[in-house]
Amino acid sequence: MDYNVLVEKDLRYLWHPFTQMSDYASRPPLIIERGEGIYLIDVHGRRYIDGVSSLWVNIHGHRRPEIDRAIKSQLDRIAHSTMLGIANVPAILLAEKLVEKTPEPLTRVFFSDNGSTAMEIALKMAYQYWVNRGVKGKSRFVSLVNAYHGDTIGAVSVGGIDLFHAVYRPLLFPAYHAPSPYCYRCPLGKAYPSCALACLRELERIVDEHQDEVIGIVSESAVQGAAGMIVMPDGYMRGLREIADKYGVLLILDEVAMGFGRTGRMWACEHEGAWPDIMAISKGITNGYLPLAATLTTEEVYSSFLGDYTKTFYHGHSYTGNPLGCVAALANLEIFEKDRTLEALVPKIRRLSQWLEEFRRLDFVGDVRQKGLVAGIELVSDRETKSPFPREEAVGFQVVYKAREMGVVIRPLGDVMVVMPPLVISVKELDRLMEVIYVCVKEVTERQ
Ligand code: PMP
Repeated sequence: MDYNVLVEKDLRYLWHPFTQMSDYASRPPLIIERGEGIYLIDVHGRRYIDGVSSLWVNIHGHRRPEIDRAIKSQLDRIAHSTMLGIANVPAILLAEKLVEKTPEPLTRVFFSDNGSTAMEIALKMAYQYWVNRGVKGKSRFVSLVNAYHGDTIGAVSVGGIDLFHAVYRPLLFPAYHAPSPYCYRCPLGKAYPSCALACLRELERIVDEHQDEVIGIVSESAVQGAAGMIVMPDGYMRGLREIADKYGVLLILDEVAMGFGRTGRMWACEHEGAWPDIMAISKGITNGYLPLAATLTTEEVYSSFLGDYTKTFYHGHSYTGNPLGCVAALANLEIFEKDRTLEALVPKIRRLSQWLEEFRRLDFVGDVRQKGLVAGIELVSDRETKSPFPREEAVGFQVVYKAREMGVVIRPLGDVMVVMPPLVISVKELDRLMEVIYVCVKEVTERQ
């Protein structure tokens, strides 16, 4: 179909997520028609490196023959049947595989269809665990400032990004918010490591003060992603587990963004052995093919729901355990084994570190943060004072539009440039991606 006709229909009918539509209409939209490996291809046939893995979901590239085949062959059987009270073959097999692949204490899989619902389920499951055990008064979560767990109301209640969440505050349930482990802009005015993780001690103080009320601690694993790829300092995740153990509360980890190898390990919580009681996964699970998510938990939590109807978990979605999504996920997990995806990451992670050192030298780069093949490059107008650029200049988006002209699709988080390519990117392609971002950051920031 003709580009101009598509643009007209796009502007007439669509409402894009996380997008100020008044701005969107002011420049020609990028309309993707096809994909191939790490490339997106637009309706004009132009190719772009998919620098943020189509919003952090793609792992093994677009149009992977193994996943295409798995979905096509499942289509010859059935596309969907409900999980409410009955089962389907791919959901059973995927649940087994996920239990095998996830940290040891996690033995039960509850499916849903996106990261927000996986977190919503985690919160309700954690709350009802205490109810089912007859423990009274447990009604508050402790989560973090700068947290992002999705856009549904429960997930927003434990979220902590004012720009996205403040407007909804009157609708939210109350939660305690501990300081963000944001070392570059430490909310406690300290420096790592001499701080001895003072932010974690503050979280502990909150749990201690409200321990009878606290259901559990909720956190992203290893990186506060949407807040700008804030990498937690060493010892932080382990500390979360220790505090949960000390006070006998649940640890709920959100691996939606950082799971499936992004950080160099299959699960970001693996780096410090911070095994959760409940874990939410989604995004990379189907290699970005189909919406699927899962909330995993322990036998201890699961068994508290056994018994009469009052203990039932009354939660479920129409598309829970969708067979097409499950076969895509099974094929995706097989590729991890067949291609040794994680082993192959080592030189790429090293190369990304080398590039980030180059960025560190730029005048308007305040901080660079990396965990595995994920990076955030924080742009500032003044390195001394760490002052941000004026918001109306939208420096992050200026870099994005410039990069698009050079064949790279990225999306910033404010003025943090995000690097999160599919894990199958080659070192050569990574070089090209980083070179384009480097040139664009330099050009845009130096002309401000
Ligand atoms: N948790 C985290 C850590 C996320 O980064 C996201 C999405 N970026 C979500 C939850 C929500 O996932 P979804 O967009 O699939 O609802």
